[in-house]
Parts: sequence; C-alpha cells; structure tokens
Amino acid sequence: MDKFKNLRGTFDILPAKLIKWQNIENLIKIQLSRSSVKEIRTPILEMTELFTRGIGENTDVVSKEMYTFNDRGNRSCTLRPEGTASVARAVINSSLSAKPQQKLWYMGPMFRYERPQAGRQRQFHQFGVEYIGYESYRSDVEIISLAWDILKKLGINNLNLEINSLGNTDDRFNYQQAFINWLDKNYSYLDEDSQNRVNKNPMRILDTKNSDTIEILKEAPRLIDYLCDESLERYLKIKKQLNFLDIPFIENYRLVRGLDYYTHTAFEITSGSLGSQATVCGGGRYDNLIKNMGGNETPAIGFAIGLERLMILAGEEYENDRLVDIYIVNKGESAENLAIELSRQLRKLNIITELDISGSSFSKQFKKANRLKSKSVIIIGEEEANKKEFLIRLFSDQNQDNKEERISFDNYFELEKWLKINIREDL
Ligand code: ATP
Ligand code: MG
Repeated sequence: MDKFKNLRGTFDILPAKLIKWQNIENLIKIQLSRSSVKEIRTPILEMTELFTRGIGENTDVVSKEMYTFNDRGNRSCTLRPEGTASVARAVINSSLSAKPQQKLWYMGPMFRYERPQAGRQRQFHQFGVEYIGYESYRSDVEIISLAWDILKKLGINNLNLEINSLGNTDDRFNYQQAFINWLDKNYSYLDEDSQNRVNKNPMRILDTKNSDTIEILKEAPRLIDYLCDESLERYLKIKKQLNFLDIPFIENYRLVRGLDYYTHTAFEITSGSLGSQATVCGGGRYDNLIKNMGGNETPAIGFAIGLERLMILAGEEYENDRLVDIYIVNKGESAENLAIELSRQLRKLNIITELDISGSSFSKQFKKANRLKSKSVIIIGEEEANKKEFLIRLFSDQNQDNKEERISFDNYFELEKWLKINIREDL
C-alpha cells in the first residue's frame, strides 16, 4: 500500500525539534506576562467574510492565498490566514468591547495557499500582539520595542527594523491618487505583476521584489510628502523615541505591507540570515479596522512574528532537553508492579522519571538510561522485589564512584531525603 503523505506545505514537528519550539514559546510567554499582555485564543476556522472584509478583497492573502470551502451547512468557511481580524471580531462581540483598552497576544497555526519554499509554508505558525484602544504614538513605540526586545532576548542578532508611515485615511487616499497618476504615466515600464496591480491594489506595487520596478519607483511620489502636519509630527515623535531607546531603524518609503487596514505606522523586522524570505516580524497601526467591522471607533496597533522563521534565527542553546532525573530499571512481575507505583510517587514529587516498560534485559535497560543521560537509576529485580526494597544509584562525575543506596519501599522518607541530597535541593 502507498504510504500516506502530508499535504504539500504542511509539516510534522517531531519531538526532537519541538524542544526548541517549546523553550522559545515559553520564553515568549514569560516576556509577555512581564509586559502585562494577556493571551486570547480564537477559532482557527472563521466565516470567510471576516477576512474578505477585514483584510480586503484585493490583497494577496484574500485574493490568492486563502483556504476557503463550504461546510455541510453550505456556509463559506476559511482557515485563518492571520490573527488580527479574528482578535478584532472577538473584541467587538464580547465583554471586552466594554473595556476601552487591552493588550492581547495569540499564538497558533495560520494557513495560506502559497508556493512552499524555505521559510514559506501552507500551514505555518504566528505569534502576535495587539494593543486595542491605544491611540498615542507611545503605543506604537511600545509595540515596536516589545517585538524588538523579544527577538533580542532570544539572542538574535543581525536584525533590521524598517519603518514607514502611511498617514491617516485622508493622507493615504491623497497619496494613492498621486501614485495612480504616476503609475498611469509609467505603466509601460512596470513589470507584468505590477501592471496587474495598478487597478486592483496599486499601493502594493511599492512592495514589489522586481529590481527594475524598484529602480523606477525611486522616481515615484513618496508617502512622506503626503502626510498632513499632524501625521508627520506623529511619525517624527516615534522616530525620536526610538532613537532615545537606542533601537536602530531604517526608514523604508516603500514599506506599505500587504493588508488594506493599515494607517500611520507600518514596520517590519528582517534578518540577513533568512535568505529571500527575510521578514520575521510585520506590524502596524490599524485605526479603521474595528469600526469597519462593525465595532466602535477603536484605534489599535499590533505585530505578528512567524515562528518557523524565528526557529531558524534562534540559536542551538534552545535545543537542549531537560535531563531525566531517575530511570527505573525493572524486571519480573512483582518488580514491575512495584516500579509502576514508585514512578507515580516520584512524579508526585516533581521528579522527572522514566519508567522502563520494555521488559528487556537489565543490560539493555541500563543502556537506555545511559543514552538518556539520566542523572540516576533505580533498580528493581526479583531479589529486590522479594525484600520490598530497591537500589538507587547516582551517576557521578567520571573519577568518582557512583553513589548507591538500598531503600525500603516502606520508607519513602528515606527516598525523599536521598532525592533532596542528590537530585533536587528544592524538594
Ligand atoms: P511575506 O512577505 O514573507 O509573504 P507577509 O507580509 O505575507 O510576509 P505577514 O502577513 O505580515 O507576512 O505575516 C507576519 C509574519 O508571518 C511574516 O513576517 C512571516 O514571518 C510569517 N509568515 C507569513 N506567511 C508565511 C508563510 N507562508 N510561511 C511561513 N511564515 C510566514
Ligand atoms: Mg505573504
């Protein structure tokens, strides 16, 4: 029979790889709770309309990349391609809408039908933060520094922060008109992909990867020249504050990001170590989204970090698993029963315990304990079982003898004492 394969662009994360994921996820969560950001979990499956309206029909994500299907009730459903629209929906529809401000984070799988390649999958994972109800330029600075500091805390260097401002809705509209005029005049110089975008999503042309078009775009009108005084002042304050915090940034006048809902600040963090899929974090302000989705007028800003790309960037120090404290070697029926009970007692004491249930020879069981680099072993054979006792042995550093003791099953106090001295002082 043919073997089953996973769908193109989707991957299993096997135990050995998952250690790094878990270590990094834990570090992120600790960092977020230190920043007083609260977790929110939303469904992976949503009504398609949430994304067509929330993200915008003419964006790449909605027009080309969504996993959309009809369910058995003939409702159009979509596997979420990103987190922001869902968080906005949850806030609008729940008791959260009564609170003027909240800081939220999410983490989980996202789905986009893209061509799989290094750093690009069809099911991938994002962790994101949304500051809902925050208007001040200081929230832009805090969001940027939160993303920056998490990446730095993970020991990632070689990072570039790029920023831009799209201004308010009017600024953006005025700019778009001027840009479309310019595009009309320069249409024949554009690459084909960009030509197709002129009518559908002209701003996205700024984002092109075509080097000829990039060259021509140097002559195009720039967003910064279309910001009203207020928007410009806001942008200047953010730059000043980032300088004050010693967070280095580059101004990128072509940075507009793919989604329709952005206003004012847009930013990306890229890394030279990622090859052509260089962006690890994308974010920006979306003051109109919640109102457009039927909520109250609510300014907001957020970012999302791609976890697969983050795993590529983070170092090997996150790949170490916790060592086993005790490996229980056991053989014979009565020994096996005692061993199971003992493993439960040890786990109650928060000791990392591996119970060998293979029934194989003692020597094989010892080999396994060695392979796991267990700190100690408990040995229960026929003889020990008859005497209702076990042997516990601490593996010492090379030139010392292994410490060994016999402990009775009736004397858990003795066991606890041994554990406290040899394994876990904090017991
Ligand atoms: P790109 O330009 O790489 O397609 P994007 O602008 O579509 O990125 P966002 O929607 O801003 O990406 O998502 C935020 C982050 O999620 C990205 O910076 C990236 O790290 C990650 N990401 C997005 N799409 C994928 C994907 N298909 N596979 C893996 N990671 C992804
Ligand atoms: Mg994309």
